[in-house]
Amino acid sequence: MATLKYLSGYPEHVLAQVRALIEGDRLGSLLQGRYGQAHAIRNDRQLYEYTVQIKERYLRKASPLDKVVYDNRLQVVKHALGTHTSVSRVQGSRLKASREIRIASVFRDAPAEFLKMIVVHELAHLKESEHNKPFYQLCEYMAADYHQLEFDLRLYLTHLESRQESPSPGADAAG
Ligand SMILES: [Zn+2]
Repeated sequence: MATLKYLSGYPEHVLAQVRALIEGDRLGSLLQGRYGQAHAIRNDRQLYEYTVQIKERYLRKASPLDKVVYDNRLQVVKHALGTHTSVSRVQGSRLKASREIRIASVFRDAPAEFLKMIVVHELAHLKESEHNKPFYQLCEYMAADYHQLEFDLRLYLTHLESRQESPSPGADAAG
């Protein structure tokens, strides 16, 4: 039976529905029907521009971003929702804070709506580091259907995992 690790914390009746979809081989087509649209954000330069565009529209006053990259070393299990860091380092006599967003590479081939969701999530962290109410309000400000998208992203990751015949060795070990 599928462990549904991306849905931990959800009520049992929801998990039962998801298991039924997987067992009936219907989860993929359900997601495909809802999120058939791919995106064209193929490389880090395009990802940076895409992210800055959303930031300029909704969070103009937040600190500028230095770097936005796809990262194929990100463990999707641990960091399904990307990572955000603020690295402080001394440059000459000044302390320079570098703001980076790393997006797990799985989003390069994910439907367009899921890339948007993850970028919105990481941008909201520029202002709120915790997953608290103001954080989710910011997410919904940038993507009105944010909560549906986050749930469906968890379904999508669950679907990808259920398609793997056997887990790749060491998939959870590194990191
Ligand atoms: Zn987060």
